[in-house]
Amino acid sequence: MVIRISEELTRREALQFYLGADEHLLRRLTSLSTAEIERLVGEARSLARPGVDRLLADYGVEQREDDWTLAGGRMLNLGECSFETGRPPRLVVNRRAIAWFAAEMADSIAAAWFTVPRLTRLVVAHELYHVVTRDVSWRGELGAHVFARAITRWPFSPLLLAVIARTHRKECRR
Ligand SMILES: [Zn+2]
Repeated sequence: MVIRISEELTRREALQFYLGADEHLLRRLTSLSTAEIERLVGEARSLARPGVDRLLADYGVEQREDDWTLAGGRMLNLGECSFETGRPPRLVVNRRAIAWFAAEMADSIAAAWFTVPRLTRLVVAHELYHVVTRDVSWRGELGAHVFARAITRWPFSPLLLAVIARTHRKECRR
């Protein structure tokens, strides 16, 4: 799960989408047709139904934590997954990036959601989608965000993490 620090949504739009449906957000951010969006969102939500623990067990996922050096510049790599033939799928969470992000957000209005345990759970859910679908395409990335939100019951789309982080930093500079 890589989030882009730079985003094109404005603060007002971000707040507008805060509790909004994923369908609206995807319509604004992508060129997918309404039918494609409905299919993607429907599939991702139905895949999320068994819950994280059940899916991790069913797919025999090996879960690991690591401390990568933070990606420089405007990208923050929170987690990764791999699936090679003949080996159990593996999911790695970047503790250092998650801790940095949680600390950055500690005094924001959304701080309750940006804790290390909640972010970790979100990253695990996101990577789990890639493991289940074997889809790491751009479309799969959107599906992973919908899936992660549904399975963790986050109040807003993880697609907005970057906007909320950026907005927060801007406010701090004032
Ligand atoms: Zn991803």
